[in-house]
Amino acid sequence: MKLENEDALDDLVICHQCHTLHKEITIQDGSKACCRECKTVLYRYDSRLAEHGLALAISALIFFVVANFFPLVKIEILGHEQFITIAKTVLSLFSNGFFIVGLLLAFLIFIFPLMIMFIYLLIFSLLKMRKGEALSKELLILLSHILPWSMMDIFLVSILVALVKLIGYAQIHMGIAFWALIVFVLLDIYLTRTVHISEIWMLRKRVFLEENSK
Ligand SMILES: [Zn+2]
Repeated sequence: MKLENEDALDDLVICHQCHTLHKEITIQDGSKACCRECKTVLYRYDSRLAEHGLALAISALIFFVVANFFPLVKIEILGHEQFITIAKTVLSLFSNGFFIVGLLLAFLIFIFPLMIMFIYLLIFSLLKMRKGEALSKELLILLSHILPWSMMDIFLVSILVALVKLIGYAQIHMGIAFWALIVFVLLDIYLTRTVHISEIWMLRKRVFLEENSK
């Protein structure tokens, strides 16, 4: 259903903090527009957003693979060594009968973060190639649904808490995956927090407006 004057709504932007409505204006490359009431950043204009986003998504995916398939930590208790990987953690939950917790963990720390990075990769690639007007719209909608469900950052904090508790009892050696996980979380936070989805919608609008007017 299309409302009357619905297209006029496309020019308005709402502040996430105080919900004040603003009219979208064109700003200079590299600058940002802030809310008049609470000074929160409303949107930025980066003419190379697609390239930057693509680079960030590819780097994040590489670190994600390393974080998942290499040992996270090596724990040594009384001469007994054990390597822990993320996949092993999830599988041991299943083998101990914690199916629901295992499934939940698999989605929150593996499936959703991987899906999010893939969606970013696809969206930025499509926008860079100026193709897939309908597909990029569907992907952006899907992205906003699953973004709150990526919990890699919480997982990292919980690992740190567990390690601090274990320090007195065991010798702990950080594996390569641990450092990769930290870099992944930093890239993930940077990409999901500083690049607002609204900025990608704006980029999409610009790209296909130029493309359709040719
Ligand atoms: Zn505001």
